[in-house]
Amino acid sequence: MFRSIKGTKDILPDEIYKWQFVEKILRENFHRFNYKEIRTPIFEQTSLFSRSIGESTDIVGKEMYSFLDRSQDSLTLKPEGTASVIRAFIQNNLGEAHQLTKVYYISPMFRQERPQAGRLRQFHQFGAEAIGSSNASVDADVIALAISIYNSFKIENNILEINSVGCPKCRPQYRTILQKELLTVADKLSPESRQRIMHNPMRVLDSKDESDKNATKEMPLIFNFLCSDCQNHFSDLQKYLNLFKIPFTINNRLVRGLDYYTRTAFEISNSSLGSQDALAGGGRYDLLCEELGGKSTPSVGFAAGIERLLMVLEKNKNIDFNSEAPEIYFVSADETAREFCIKTTIDMRLNKISAECDYLNRSVKAQMRDANRQNAKFVAVIGEREIESKSINLKQMSDGKETHVTLNSLQKFLTKHTD
Ligand code: AMP
Repeated sequence: MFRSIKGTKDILPDEIYKWQFVEKILRENFHRFNYKEIRTPIFEQTSLFSRSIGESTDIVGKEMYSFLDRSQDSLTLKPEGTASVIRAFIQNNLGEAHQLTKVYYISPMFRQERPQAGRLRQFHQFGAEAIGSSNASVDADVIALAISIYNSFKIENNILEINSVGCPKCRPQYRTILQKELLTVADKLSPESRQRIMHNPMRVLDSKDESDKNATKEMPLIFNFLCSDCQNHFSDLQKYLNLFKIPFTINNRLVRGLDYYTRTAFEISNSSLGSQDALAGGGRYDLLCEELGGKSTPSVGFAAGIERLLMVLEKNKNIDFNSEAPEIYFVSADETAREFCIKTTIDMRLNKISAECDYLNRSVKAQMRDANRQNAKFVAVIGEREIESKSINLKQMSDGKETHVTLNSLQKFLTKHTD
């Protein structure tokens, strides 16, 4: 027996409607904010990710699905979206047509992490990138987009945390001071954080480990080291968020796991998720384009997990996923009605109405059970009388209400109820 690979999941026909519903709402939001979709390949040269995400990060260090193809080229399944988007932006000269390029993606991503609730090896992200502006209003726009998405799903109790991680002008000095301080408490840190002192010290402050938290309580924070440009950018961002009436908290310990971030870093979390509570994360990455061989192009974006979004939605029972149940199920009362049902079902489908009937010669009772299982909105039992009178009794399954309609007016009746 073959089984799906650990950390991957089949999305089965009975739950696909949730994904399609989520994707529909996402696309509506991206459209409202005027972001256009971009689809990049599922795999890229390995060096694209090691170069952009950074050798010292968890993703590149231990989580990538990399392999040599038959030409001995090292390729990697996308662990995140931004590097590929910027590669495509440079390769296709997207910056020539628009000074500010606004794109979004919805795509599977691959990371070899320890699978647990809310953490998979193939998972799905949606994300947006605004490429071409250093203005803090664009950071706020990207955050507003992410917030607007969660608002559309009526998700409450989200926490938005923001921070500035500085820039190449101010960060190195802070890094050196932080490193020195961290070395003095190295024996109190978790093995993971100890390893990070030299190559990724800011991540130590972001650790969820209790002993790390205690040991770093008094550590200097980046906030006091920001250069005046970074300070101004950070206060502009706050000004815009206030203007948009988006509540936020400043978390001076927040850093993103990826090396290419500059200035703004943000995270949206939801406490109902438990230990894996991050819904979305993003920030500014002014250096990435140049790092990948393009012109210097300031950019900002975010990425968010779809599985995590679905987990919150499922906890929050009041969401109507708008399921894709058939509008009508024709039950045939006897053998002669069967052919009529099949023909009427096809007629409905050709007229844009989702319809179903029985193809397995089942009893009336079994057909009713099937209609119920499929959540059909209306059921009509067809027998000799219905065929002769060219009219049927439609039973609305939600409340049992019956309506008598002629077959001629059935399509019109159902269209009205679908709208
Ligand atoms: P990141 O690219 O690591 O900043 O992740 C952005 C978002 O993607 C997170 O906030 C999660 O919602 C989601 N995510 C990241 N890694 C995983 C994973 N292994 N499984 C499921 N969702 C993930």
